[in-house]
Amino acid sequence: PLFQNATFHISAHHLSDLPPPFGIEVAFAGRSNAGKSSALNTMANHNRLAFVSKQPGRTQLINFFSLGGDRFLVDLPGYGYAKVPESMRKHWQMTLSNYLSHRSSLYGLVLVMDSRHPLTPLDRQMLDWFGPSGKPIHVLLTKSDKLSRSAAMLTLNAVRKELNTTWGNCSVQLFSSLKKQGVEEAEAVIGKWLFP
Ligand code: GDP
Repeated sequence: PLFQNATFHISAHHLSDLPPPFGIEVAFAGRSNAGKSSALNTMANHNRLAFVSKQPGRTQLINFFSLGGDRFLVDLPGYGYAKVPESMRKHWQMTLSNYLSHRSSLYGLVLVMDSRHPLTPLDRQMLDWFGPSGKPIHVLLTKSDKLSRSAAMLTLNAVRKELNTTWGNCSVQLFSSLKKQGVEEAEAVIGKWLFP
């Protein structure tokens, strides 16, 4: 599994806390509850690290995990949670937009979306921030076990079409942490980014 040897490295709350931009990092982003932690845990094969970080404090941080050498996995705070105070929302908008558009060591973005509710306005916002960098985006349409096969295929094609016409350099796949579907496909894409 790709993230089996991930170890916690550092948490950043402000841009000034980010580690120096050396090496290669891949960031995971998504609306809260989209299934990001579950997807990370699935790819880590449930190592004791447990990416499921439901503690509000921890989820409001940019968490860096070392994958060995100068390779990093970056877990971005989940967005779209309704009960966040406006000041904190502003802070995270500023921090995330800056990180996504300027971080030189950021190789690619994995955007996690619930396959039943893809491309929400905030997902589009993330794509608008990151897309202009020209770097690759890989979308995981999670909880695909909740859709029929035909509905899943329709969603996959519709999202793929929209991503490629609007943002370019995107790939999309179905993913289920519950059924362990799409794990190898995701690991192949992300593995190529991290260990080219
Ligand atoms: P996060 O906030 O994006 O990190 O989301 P979580 O990984 O914590 O998942 C949110 C909820 O969706 C939890 O109740 C999970 O059990 C559920 N969930 C996550 N992935 C899947 C999946 O592949 N299939 C199903 N059926 N439920 C899932």
